[in-house]
Amino acid sequence: MPPVFQSRVGIPCRVGDDGRMRTVAEHQDAVRALLAPLAHRGTVDVVAVNAAALAGSRDVDRVLAADVASPIDHPPFDNSQMDGYAVRSVEAVPGRVFAVAARIAAGDPVCTLEPGTAAPIMTGAAVPVGADAIVPIEASIPDSFPPEEGEHTVEFSAPAIPGAFVRPRGSDLEGGRMLLPAGTRLGAAQWGVLAASGIREVRVRRRLKVLVLSTGDELRGAGDELESGQIYDANSATMAIGVTECGATVADVRTVTDDAAALSAYLASHGRSADLILTTGGVSKGAYEVVRDVFEPAGVSFSSVAMQPGGPQGLGLATLTDDAGVQFERPVVAFPGNPVSALVSFEMFLRPVLRELDGLAPRRASSLAYLAEPLVSPGGKHQVRRGRFDAAGAVELVGGPSSHLLHGYATSTLLVHVPLGVSHLDAGAPVETWSID
Ligand code: AMP
Ligand code: MG
Repeated sequence: MPPVFQSRVGIPCRVGDDGRMRTVAEHQDAVRALLAPLAHRGTVDVVAVNAAALAGSRDVDRVLAADVASPIDHPPFDNSQMDGYAVRSVEAVPGRVFAVAARIAAGDPVCTLEPGTAAPIMTGAAVPVGADAIVPIEASIPDSFPPEEGEHTVEFSAPAIPGAFVRPRGSDLEGGRMLLPAGTRLGAAQWGVLAASGIREVRVRRRLKVLVLSTGDELRGAGDELESGQIYDANSATMAIGVTECGATVADVRTVTDDAAALSAYLASHGRSADLILTTGGVSKGAYEVVRDVFEPAGVSFSSVAMQPGGPQGLGLATLTDDAGVQFERPVVAFPGNPVSALVSFEMFLRPVLRELDGLAPRRASSLAYLAEPLVSPGGKHQVRRGRFDAAGAVELVGGPSSHLLHGYATSTLLVHVPLGVSHLDAGAPVETWSID
């Protein structure tokens, strides 16, 4: 006889078709395995290394698709690290008087230093041929540059060491060597070194494209008048924005009705446009389960995961047919419709995988914290509650466990995990929390 988990509040949990519910870890693994082929998505995008175009653009946050070699030495020529005097170090002993040569500014072409002279040189300026050291202006007598007109002399208070304050050509990286390897996430420093190399465009990994479908006859969009029994669609926003936060793009975001023929028609015309189809609603065992009705015959499995909220889950590779009658396959991840169920499902199952596929840190920051109040949980399920830290640093719960409490979620900063097998926790008990603020 299959086990029936008895929760503390006395509601027996439903047992899956195979005799038991999937654990959260098993479903996480199944989602990871289903989406693993998306790591090898073929084509790449080409993005211009252009600060003005990149500023404020989503292209800032991309991942290199191919190794990039440096076309130039970094730095490209020996240059001064200080404002000071370029000298021949063998000549620069304390007490020796030098004739001051012409000034060398950053951007001036390389010149030659005559023996017995010291050239005022600015930071970043090319070290003249013949010079092998820079004496900082602070170690010079006088310790400020003379006017450009007239003839002047300078002495130094300390000997110059060969190579002192010279930034040698290629000392950061020699030309031809690896500048950044494939898989590098591009941020300010990485875009900077590409720009500093004079590179005009880079090949980056194509973003994953996700089709976000919210199902339900009751759903209306902002701007619509709500009639009796209708609600505004929350999941299109939570899922589309969640997907975007994972580095993916939304191929289309749509509210569809509970009409299976209409959903099939939509998939025939739009299903190919995405790498992944993400749906909410219509996965339970009610009378109008459009997602289940359309995708189960297409090969997607619907099962119960031992998690609260977010028990009913659909997952699998769907074989669909396009408008031309040609079959194609797409992975489908189907979450339940209650907004908190959909969000918790997204956090537990999809967010880590999508982020990993985009080269982003997959996990939320987690910490062990102490409950400010007792809680009950269905012992046969992993419960995910919403909470925040109180003034004493303990975890207070925001709202109850119900999966319609989206405002409670939106005003929480923590997900609070109550593991499988735990049906009651006292105030002061340690819990794992994930930071979601
Ligand atoms: P379902 O999973 O389709 O049975 O929906 C479960 C509950 O979630 C119902 O109360 C729905 O009205 C609600 N719901 C489903 N989809 C959405 C959505 N996109 N936005 C807000 N609530 C939803
Ligand atoms: Mg529904």
